[in-house]
Amino acid sequence: MKDVITIDGPSGSGKGTIAKLLAKKLGYRYFDTGALYRAVAWKTAQEKIDIDNEDALNTILRNMKIAFEDERVIVDGQDISSEIRTGEIGELSSRVSAKTTVREALFNIQREMCLQGKVVIEGRDTGTAIFPESENKFYLDADLEERARRRFEELKINYPGITMEKTIEDIKKRDLRDSSRESSPLTKSDDMVYVDSTGMAIDEVVSFINTNLK
Ligand code: C5P
Repeated sequence: MKDVITIDGPSGSGKGTIAKLLAKKLGYRYFDTGALYRAVAWKTAQEKIDIDNEDALNTILRNMKIAFEDERVIVDGQDISSEIRTGEIGELSSRVSAKTTVREALFNIQREMCLQGKVVIEGRDTGTAIFPESENKFYLDADLEERARRRFEELKINYPGITMEKTIEDIKKRDLRDSSRESSPLTKSDDMVYVDSTGMAIDEVVSFINTNLK
């Protein structure tokens, strides 16, 4: 399928911004799969459950209702779009996403979105596990310093005390966890187009991907 475009890559690589703009340009829907993991993380924090307790985690996964309305994330009727963007939920979502039970529970919702076509889907495993048959797969990267700088600019709005050193440490930790987990780790497959966005302007990246579409 040509109208399912997958974009994977590490934290701070700019996947969200690029995927959103590309979707707009093509008139496709945009699907941020990280928001699903963040929503599950948020729910575990709300319910104060230990994420290593598999039974409790499964109960949450069975009962929670996740919906997207435009770009708003709605869990059990509550709009949690801003709540899931904190540093704490980012860290917790990375730990939660390493759980196979969580990845299995979120597989269908992502797969169904792809089967409808005309979508730009971004995350860590969208081209390897969710829609491997896509003919338009991209791996977006940037060097560590640049990714940390982008994340730092986002976080410092709400966390005046955050430092660049701490941001670099957090990103390193997340990269390692995302790429070394057993279940669908972040990885670049041979059939993905690699895009190193270091030093590139946002528009340049979008048009590079656009001109490389099959
Ligand atoms: O992209 P974002 O930072 O919102 O994703 C939150 C976390 O969810 C990531 O750190 C990653 O661990 C996890 N994730 C994942 N697979 C995806 C998307 C996100 O494991 N497809």
